[in-house]
Amino acid sequence: MHPFTLERPSDLPAALAFRAHAGREDAPVEYIAGGTDMVQLLQEDVRTPERLVSLAGLLDGKIDIGPHCLRLGAAATMTEVAAHSGVVEQFPVISQALLASASPQVRNQATMGGNLLQRTRCPYFRDVGYAACNKRSPGSGCAAIGGENRWNAVLGTSDSCIAAHASDLAAALVALDASVEIRSAAGERSVVLAHFHRLPGGTPHIETVLEPGEVITAIKVPASPAARRSHYLKLRDRASFEFALVSAAVALDVDGSRIQQAHVALGGVGSKPWRVPKVEAALAGASLDDPAALRQAAAHAAEGAQGRGGNTFKIELMQRAIVRAVETAGGRA
Ligand SMILES: Cc1cc2nc3c(=O)[nH]c(=O)nc-3n(C[C@H](O)[C@H](O)[C@H](O)COP(=O)(O)OP(=O)(O)OC[C@H]3O[C@@H](n4cnc5c(N)ncnc54)[C@H](O)[C@@H]3O)c2cc1C
Ligand code: SF4
Repeated sequence: MHPFTLERPSDLPAALAFRAHAGREDAPVEYIAGGTDMVQLLQEDVRTPERLVSLAGLLDGKIDIGPHCLRLGAAATMTEVAAHSGVVEQFPVISQALLASASPQVRNQATMGGNLLQRTRCPYFRDVGYAACNKRSPGSGCAAIGGENRWNAVLGTSDSCIAAHASDLAAALVALDASVEIRSAAGERSVVLAHFHRLPGGTPHIETVLEPGEVITAIKVPASPAARRSHYLKLRDRASFEFALVSAAVALDVDGSRIQQAHVALGGVGSKPWRVPKVEAALAGASLDDPAALRQAAAHAAEGAQGRGGNTFKIELMQRAIVRAVETAGGRA
Protein backbone atom coordinates (compact mmCIF):
# COMPACT_ATOMS: atom_id res chain seq x y z
CA MET A 1 0.00 0.00 0.00
CA HIS A 2 1.22 3.46 -0.91
CA PRO A 3 1.90 5.50 2.29
CA PHE A 4 -0.57 8.30 3.05
CA THR A 5 -1.48 10.64 5.87
CA LEU A 6 -4.87 10.15 7.48
CA GLU A 7 -6.46 13.46 8.45
CA ARG A 8 -9.19 13.43 11.14
CA PRO A 9 -10.67 16.94 11.03
CA SER A 10 -12.80 17.93 14.01
CA ASP A 11 -15.60 19.49 11.99
CA LEU A 12 -16.95 19.65 8.46
CA PRO A 13 -15.54 23.11 7.54
CA ALA A 14 -12.07 21.82 8.42
CA ALA A 15 -12.65 18.76 6.21
CA LEU A 16 -13.89 20.91 3.33
CA ALA A 17 -10.79 23.10 3.60
CA PHE A 18 -8.68 20.13 2.46
CA ARG A 19 -10.39 20.41 -0.94
CA ALA A 20 -10.28 16.63 -1.32
CA HIS A 21 -11.91 14.95 -4.28
CA ALA A 22 -13.92 11.83 -5.01
CA GLY A 23 -14.16 9.79 -8.17
CA ARG A 24 -11.22 11.03 -10.20
CA GLU A 25 -7.73 9.75 -10.69
CA ASP A 26 -5.62 12.87 -10.41
CA ALA A 27 -6.66 13.73 -6.84
CA PRO A 28 -3.78 13.80 -4.33
CA VAL A 29 -6.26 14.27 -1.47
CA GLU A 30 -9.37 12.10 -1.11
CA TYR A 31 -12.23 11.72 1.34
CA ILE A 32 -13.04 8.46 3.07
CA ALA A 33 -16.33 7.59 4.79
CA GLY A 34 -17.15 3.96 5.68
CA GLY A 35 -14.01 2.87 3.83
CA THR A 36 -15.51 -0.31 2.34
CA ASP A 37 -14.55 0.64 -1.20
CA MET A 38 -11.67 3.02 -0.55
CA VAL A 39 -9.68 0.61 1.62
CA GLN A 40 -9.87 -2.11 -1.06
CA LEU A 41 -8.58 0.36 -3.64
CA LEU A 42 -5.74 1.46 -1.35
CA GLN A 43 -4.78 -2.15 -0.64
CA GLU A 44 -4.56 -2.89 -4.35
CA ASP A 45 -2.64 0.34 -5.11
CA VAL A 46 -5.45 1.43 -7.42
CA ARG A 47 -5.63 4.62 -5.37
CA THR A 48 -2.46 6.24 -4.12
CA PRO A 49 -3.48 9.55 -2.51
CA GLU A 50 -1.00 11.49 -0.39
CA ARG A 51 -3.73 12.31 2.12
CA LEU A 52 -7.02 10.76 3.14
CA VAL A 53 -9.52 13.03 4.87
CA SER A 54 -11.94 11.14 7.09
CA LEU A 55 -15.58 12.22 7.05
CA ALA A 56 -16.39 9.96 10.02
CA GLY A 57 -18.56 11.80 12.54
CA LEU A 58 -18.75 14.95 10.41
CA LEU A 59 -21.91 14.26 8.37
CA ASP A 60 -25.33 13.38 9.69
CA GLY A 61 -26.88 9.96 9.21
CA LYS A 62 -30.48 10.91 9.87
CA ILE A 63 -33.35 9.35 7.97
CA ASP A 64 -36.33 11.73 7.82
CA ILE A 65 -39.59 11.12 6.01
CA GLY A 66 -41.86 14.12 5.58
CA PRO A 67 -45.14 14.41 3.65
CA HIS A 68 -43.31 15.30 0.43
CA CYS A 69 -39.82 13.95 0.71
CA LEU A 70 -37.43 11.36 2.12
CA ARG A 71 -34.10 12.75 3.30
CA LEU A 72 -31.15 10.43 3.84
CA GLY A 73 -28.14 11.93 5.61
CA ALA A 74 -24.95 11.03 3.75
CA ALA A 75 -23.60 9.13 6.76
CA ALA A 76 -26.64 6.84 7.08
CA THR A 77 -25.51 3.27 6.55
CA MET A 78 -26.94 0.90 3.97
CA THR A 79 -28.28 -1.27 6.81
CA GLU A 80 -30.02 1.62 8.56
CA VAL A 81 -31.73 2.82 5.40
CA ALA A 82 -32.73 -0.67 4.21
CA ALA A 83 -34.33 -1.49 7.57
CA HIS A 84 -36.13 1.82 8.15
CA SER A 85 -39.84 1.07 8.32
CA GLY A 86 -40.83 4.24 6.45
CA VAL A 87 -38.40 3.44 3.64
CA VAL A 88 -39.65 -0.15 3.44
CA GLU A 89 -43.26 1.03 3.26
CA GLN A 90 -43.04 4.16 1.14
CA PHE A 91 -39.90 3.55 -0.95
CA PRO A 92 -39.58 -0.23 -1.23
CA VAL A 93 -37.31 -0.04 -4.29
CA ILE A 94 -34.63 1.65 -2.14
CA SER A 95 -34.79 -0.93 0.62
CA GLN A 96 -34.80 -3.80 -1.89
CA ALA A 97 -31.82 -2.39 -3.83
CA LEU A 98 -29.82 -2.06 -0.62
CA LEU A 99 -30.67 -5.51 0.67
CA ALA A 100 -29.60 -6.95 -2.69
CA SER A 101 -26.21 -5.22 -2.31
CA ALA A 102 -22.99 -6.50 -0.76
CA SER A 103 -23.11 -8.39 2.56
CA PRO A 104 -24.55 -7.53 5.99
CA GLN A 105 -21.05 -6.67 7.24
CA VAL A 106 -20.41 -4.26 4.36
CA ARG A 107 -23.89 -2.76 4.65
CA ASN A 108 -23.32 -2.07 8.36
CA GLN A 109 -20.29 0.06 7.54
CA ALA A 110 -21.02 1.57 4.11
CA THR A 111 -22.63 5.00 3.85
CA MET A 112 -25.07 6.61 1.41
CA GLY A 113 -22.47 9.11 0.18
CA GLY A 114 -19.84 6.44 -0.34
CA ASN A 115 -22.29 4.17 -2.11
CA LEU A 116 -23.03 6.75 -4.81
CA LEU A 117 -19.29 7.35 -5.25
CA GLN A 118 -18.08 3.76 -5.27
CA ARG A 119 -15.80 2.95 -8.18
CA THR A 120 -16.50 0.53 -11.00
CA ARG A 121 -15.98 -3.22 -10.62
CA CYS A 122 -14.36 -3.49 -14.07
CA PRO A 123 -11.65 -6.06 -13.29
CA TYR A 124 -9.01 -4.20 -15.28
CA PHE A 125 -9.61 -1.04 -13.27
CA ARG A 126 -9.11 -2.94 -10.01
CA ASP A 127 -5.93 -4.75 -11.05
CA VAL A 128 -2.89 -2.55 -11.56
CA GLY A 129 -1.22 -5.52 -13.27
CA TYR A 130 -3.09 -4.41 -16.39
CA ALA A 131 -1.52 -1.29 -17.84
CA ALA A 132 -4.38 -0.32 -20.16
CA CYS A 133 -7.17 1.38 -18.25
CA ASN A 134 -8.13 4.93 -19.19
CA LYS A 135 -10.15 5.32 -16.01
CA ARG A 136 -7.21 4.45 -13.74
CA SER A 137 -4.45 5.76 -15.94
CA PRO A 138 -5.74 8.34 -18.47
CA GLY A 139 -4.48 7.79 -22.00
CA SER A 140 -3.40 4.19 -21.41
CA GLY A 141 -6.17 2.50 -23.41
CA CYS A 142 -8.97 0.14 -22.41
CA ALA A 143 -8.26 -3.53 -21.78
CA ALA A 144 -11.97 -4.37 -21.47
CA ILE A 145 -12.76 -3.46 -25.08
CA GLY A 146 -11.73 -6.65 -26.81
CA GLY A 147 -11.01 -8.27 -23.45
CA GLU A 148 -13.12 -9.90 -20.75
CA ASN A 149 -16.18 -7.66 -20.58
CA ARG A 150 -19.05 -9.74 -19.18
CA TRP A 151 -19.51 -7.21 -16.34
CA ASN A 152 -19.19 -4.09 -18.46
CA ALA A 153 -21.73 -1.62 -19.79
CA VAL A 154 -23.69 -1.63 -23.04
CA LEU A 155 -25.23 1.84 -22.68
CA GLY A 156 -23.51 5.22 -22.43
CA THR A 157 -20.09 3.79 -23.23
CA SER A 158 -17.33 5.38 -25.30
CA ASP A 159 -14.27 4.18 -27.17
CA SER A 160 -12.28 5.15 -24.07
CA CYS A 161 -14.22 3.19 -21.45
CA ILE A 162 -17.08 0.70 -21.17
CA ALA A 163 -17.14 0.38 -17.38
CA ALA A 164 -20.53 -0.18 -15.76
CA HIS A 165 -21.65 1.85 -12.78
CA ALA A 166 -21.85 -0.55 -9.85
CA SER A 167 -24.33 0.96 -7.39
CA ASP A 168 -27.70 -0.73 -6.99
CA LEU A 169 -28.89 2.10 -4.78
CA ALA A 170 -28.13 4.69 -7.47
CA ALA A 171 -30.38 2.94 -10.00
CA ALA A 172 -33.26 2.92 -7.50
CA LEU A 173 -32.72 6.58 -6.63
CA VAL A 174 -32.49 7.70 -10.25
CA ALA A 175 -35.81 6.00 -10.96
CA LEU A 176 -37.37 8.01 -8.11
CA ASP A 177 -36.02 11.41 -9.29
CA ALA A 178 -33.70 11.74 -6.30
CA SER A 179 -31.26 14.61 -5.91
CA VAL A 180 -28.04 14.97 -3.95
CA GLU A 181 -27.26 17.83 -1.58
CA ILE A 182 -23.67 19.00 -1.96
CA ARG A 183 -21.63 21.23 0.30
CA SER A 184 -18.27 22.98 -0.07
CA ALA A 185 -16.56 25.89 1.68
CA ALA A 186 -18.29 28.15 -0.87
CA GLY A 187 -21.83 27.01 -0.01
CA GLU A 188 -24.43 24.43 -0.90
CA ARG A 189 -26.01 23.19 -4.09
CA SER A 190 -28.36 20.46 -5.17
CA VAL A 191 -27.92 18.23 -8.23
CA VAL A 192 -30.48 15.86 -9.69
CA LEU A 193 -28.91 12.43 -9.32
CA ALA A 194 -29.54 11.60 -12.99
CA HIS A 195 -27.09 14.44 -13.80
CA PHE A 196 -24.59 13.74 -11.02
CA HIS A 197 -22.59 10.98 -12.73
CA ARG A 198 -20.84 11.82 -16.00
CA LEU A 199 -20.68 9.82 -19.19
CA PRO A 200 -17.13 8.55 -19.81
CA GLY A 201 -16.55 10.25 -23.18
CA GLY A 202 -12.82 10.87 -23.52
CA THR A 203 -12.36 11.49 -19.77
CA PRO A 204 -13.57 8.36 -17.96
CA HIS A 205 -11.33 9.19 -14.99
CA ILE A 206 -13.70 12.04 -14.04
CA GLU A 207 -16.86 10.30 -12.89
CA THR A 208 -19.11 12.96 -11.35
CA VAL A 209 -19.84 16.67 -11.37
CA LEU A 210 -18.28 17.06 -7.90
CA GLU A 211 -15.63 19.78 -7.69
CA PRO A 212 -12.62 19.53 -5.36
CA GLY A 213 -13.72 20.20 -1.78
CA GLU A 214 -17.36 19.24 -2.37
CA VAL A 215 -18.98 16.50 -0.32
CA ILE A 216 -22.38 14.89 -0.48
CA THR A 217 -24.33 15.80 2.67
CA ALA A 218 -27.70 14.21 1.91
CA ILE A 219 -29.94 12.55 -0.65
CA LYS A 220 -33.51 13.74 -1.18
CA VAL A 221 -36.24 11.61 -2.73
CA PRO A 222 -39.71 12.95 -3.57
CA ALA A 223 -42.56 10.97 -2.00
CA SER A 224 -45.20 9.73 -4.45
CA PRO A 225 -47.75 6.97 -4.97
CA ALA A 226 -45.36 5.54 -7.59
CA ALA A 227 -42.54 5.31 -5.03
CA ARG A 228 -44.87 3.23 -2.83
CA ARG A 229 -45.53 0.88 -5.76
CA SER A 230 -41.92 0.24 -6.67
CA HIS A 231 -39.67 -2.76 -7.11
CA TYR A 232 -35.99 -3.60 -7.61
CA LEU A 233 -35.05 -6.66 -9.64
CA LYS A 234 -31.39 -7.66 -9.63
CA LEU A 235 -29.98 -10.38 -11.86
CA ARG A 236 -26.50 -11.64 -10.98
CA ASP A 237 -24.20 -14.62 -11.26
CA ARG A 238 -25.00 -15.87 -7.75
CA ALA A 239 -27.82 -15.18 -5.35
CA SER A 240 -25.93 -13.09 -2.82
CA PHE A 241 -22.81 -10.99 -2.36
CA GLU A 242 -22.56 -10.23 -6.09
CA PHE A 243 -22.85 -7.15 -8.28
CA ALA A 244 -25.63 -6.79 -10.85
CA LEU A 245 -25.24 -8.09 -14.36
CA VAL A 246 -28.53 -6.35 -15.05
CA SER A 247 -30.98 -4.70 -12.69
CA ALA A 248 -34.24 -2.82 -13.13
CA ALA A 249 -35.72 -0.28 -10.72
CA VAL A 250 -39.38 0.41 -11.45
CA ALA A 251 -41.99 2.67 -9.85
CA LEU A 252 -45.54 2.78 -11.15
CA ASP A 253 -48.65 4.92 -10.98
CA VAL A 254 -51.54 2.66 -11.95
CA ASP A 255 -55.28 2.96 -12.37
CA GLY A 256 -56.70 -0.54 -12.13
CA SER A 257 -54.61 -2.54 -14.54
CA ARG A 258 -53.62 0.51 -16.62
CA ILE A 259 -50.20 2.12 -16.12
CA GLN A 260 -50.60 5.87 -15.80
CA GLN A 261 -46.94 6.69 -15.37
CA ALA A 262 -43.80 4.59 -15.11
CA HIS A 263 -40.35 5.38 -13.73
CA VAL A 264 -37.67 2.97 -14.93
CA ALA A 265 -33.92 2.95 -14.37
CA LEU A 266 -31.37 0.23 -15.07
CA GLY A 267 -28.27 -0.90 -13.20
CA GLY A 268 -25.35 -3.02 -14.38
CA VAL A 269 -25.77 -1.99 -18.03
CA GLY A 270 -24.95 1.72 -18.11
CA SER A 271 -21.79 3.73 -17.63
CA LYS A 272 -23.94 5.56 -15.08
CA PRO A 273 -27.27 4.74 -13.44
CA TRP A 274 -29.41 4.56 -16.56
CA ARG A 275 -32.90 6.07 -16.83
CA VAL A 276 -34.90 4.95 -19.87
CA PRO A 277 -37.41 7.72 -20.74
CA LYS A 278 -38.52 6.10 -24.01
CA VAL A 279 -39.45 2.93 -22.14
CA GLU A 280 -41.36 5.03 -19.60
CA ALA A 281 -43.27 6.87 -22.34
CA ALA A 282 -44.20 3.60 -24.04
CA LEU A 283 -45.36 2.06 -20.75
CA ALA A 284 -47.73 4.95 -20.03
CA GLY A 285 -51.21 3.75 -20.97
CA ALA A 286 -50.22 0.09 -21.30
CA SER A 287 -52.12 -2.63 -19.50
CA LEU A 288 -50.29 -4.65 -16.87
CA ASP A 289 -52.12 -7.66 -18.29
CA ASP A 290 -50.72 -7.19 -21.81
CA PRO A 291 -47.25 -8.82 -21.83
CA ALA A 292 -46.75 -8.01 -25.52
CA ALA A 293 -47.23 -4.29 -24.86
CA LEU A 294 -44.84 -4.41 -21.91
CA ARG A 295 -42.29 -6.25 -24.00
CA GLN A 296 -42.67 -3.71 -26.84
CA ALA A 297 -42.13 -0.86 -24.40
CA ALA A 298 -39.07 -2.52 -22.86
CA ALA A 299 -37.51 -2.91 -26.33
CA HIS A 300 -36.81 0.84 -26.36
CA ALA A 301 -34.13 0.24 -23.72
CA ALA A 302 -31.98 -1.39 -26.40
CA GLU A 303 -31.82 1.75 -28.54
CA GLY A 304 -28.20 2.85 -28.69
CA ALA A 305 -26.96 -0.22 -26.83
CA GLN A 306 -23.63 -1.64 -27.95
CA GLY A 307 -22.40 -5.07 -26.94
CA ARG A 308 -18.70 -5.94 -27.03
CA GLY A 309 -18.95 -9.71 -27.15
CA GLY A 310 -18.88 -10.89 -23.56
CA ASN A 311 -21.57 -8.46 -22.45
CA THR A 312 -23.87 -8.55 -25.49
CA PHE A 313 -26.30 -10.87 -23.65
CA LYS A 314 -27.21 -7.92 -21.43
CA ILE A 315 -29.13 -6.21 -24.23
CA GLU A 316 -31.79 -8.91 -24.28
CA LEU A 317 -31.62 -9.57 -20.55
CA MET A 318 -32.29 -5.96 -19.59
CA GLN A 319 -35.49 -5.91 -21.63
CA ARG A 320 -36.71 -9.04 -19.89
CA ALA A 321 -35.74 -7.57 -16.53
CA ILE A 322 -37.82 -4.46 -17.21
CA VAL A 323 -40.91 -6.54 -18.06
CA ARG A 324 -40.51 -8.70 -14.95
CA ALA A 325 -39.93 -5.69 -12.68
CA VAL A 326 -42.96 -3.86 -14.10
CA GLU A 327 -45.15 -6.93 -13.62
CA THR A 328 -43.87 -7.35 -10.07
CA ALA A 329 -44.37 -3.69 -9.14
CA GLY A 330 -47.86 -3.93 -10.62
CA GLY A 331 -48.67 -7.05 -8.61
CA ARG A 332 -48.73 -9.37 -11.64
CA ALA A 333 -45.65 -11.54 -11.01
C1 LIG B 1 -17.50 -7.23 -0.92
C2 LIG B 1 -18.31 -6.08 -1.42
C3 LIG B 1 -19.48 -6.32 -2.13
C4 LIG B 1 -20.24 -5.25 -2.60
N1 LIG B 1 -21.39 -5.47 -3.30
C5 LIG B 1 -22.14 -4.42 -3.73
C6 LIG B 1 -23.35 -4.61 -4.45
O1 LIG B 1 -23.79 -5.74 -4.70
N2 LIG B 1 -24.04 -3.51 -4.84
C7 LIG B 1 -23.60 -2.24 -4.57
O2 LIG B 1 -24.29 -1.28 -4.94
N3 LIG B 1 -22.46 -2.03 -3.91
C8 LIG B 1 -21.73 -3.08 -3.49
N4 LIG B 1 -20.54 -2.87 -2.83
C9 LIG B 1 -20.03 -1.52 -2.74
C10 LIG B 1 -20.45 -0.83 -1.46
O3 LIG B 1 -21.83 -0.49 -1.58
C11 LIG B 1 -19.57 0.40 -1.30
O4 LIG B 1 -18.27 -0.06 -1.00
C12 LIG B 1 -20.03 1.32 -0.21
O5 LIG B 1 -21.35 1.73 -0.40
C13 LIG B 1 -19.13 2.53 -0.12
O6 LIG B 1 -19.50 3.30 0.99
P1 LIG B 1 -18.39 3.77 2.04
O7 LIG B 1 -19.05 4.68 3.01
O8 LIG B 1 -17.70 2.60 2.62
O9 LIG B 1 -17.45 4.59 1.07
P2 LIG B 1 -15.85 4.77 1.07
O10 LIG B 1 -15.20 3.51 0.66
O11 LIG B 1 -15.42 5.40 2.32
O12 LIG B 1 -15.73 5.84 -0.10
C14 LIG B 1 -16.06 5.55 -1.42
C15 LIG B 1 -15.84 6.81 -2.25
O13 LIG B 1 -16.79 7.78 -1.89
C16 LIG B 1 -16.14 9.01 -1.49
N5 LIG B 1 -17.01 9.55 -0.46
C17 LIG B 1 -17.59 8.85 0.56
N6 LIG B 1 -18.49 9.63 1.19
C18 LIG B 1 -18.48 10.82 0.57
C19 LIG B 1 -19.23 12.03 0.75
N7 LIG B 1 -20.17 12.15 1.69
N8 LIG B 1 -18.96 13.08 -0.07
C20 LIG B 1 -18.01 12.97 -1.02
N9 LIG B 1 -17.28 11.86 -1.25
C21 LIG B 1 -17.53 10.80 -0.46
C22 LIG B 1 -14.75 8.62 -1.10
O14 LIG B 1 -13.85 9.68 -1.34
C23 LIG B 1 -14.49 7.46 -2.05
O15 LIG B 1 -14.05 7.95 -3.29
C24 LIG B 1 -19.79 -3.93 -2.34
C25 LIG B 1 -18.63 -3.69 -1.61
C26 LIG B 1 -17.89 -4.75 -1.15
C27 LIG B 1 -16.63 -4.46 -0.37
S1 SF4 C 1 -13.74 -0.29 -19.26
FE1 SF4 C 1 -13.01 1.58 -18.28
S2 SF4 C 1 -12.42 0.87 -16.26
FE2 SF4 C 1 -12.47 -0.96 -17.56
S3 SF4 C 1 -10.43 -1.19 -18.48
FE3 SF4 C 1 -11.62 0.05 -19.88
S4 SF4 C 1 -11.08 2.14 -19.26
FE4 SF4 C 1 -10.57 0.83 -17.54
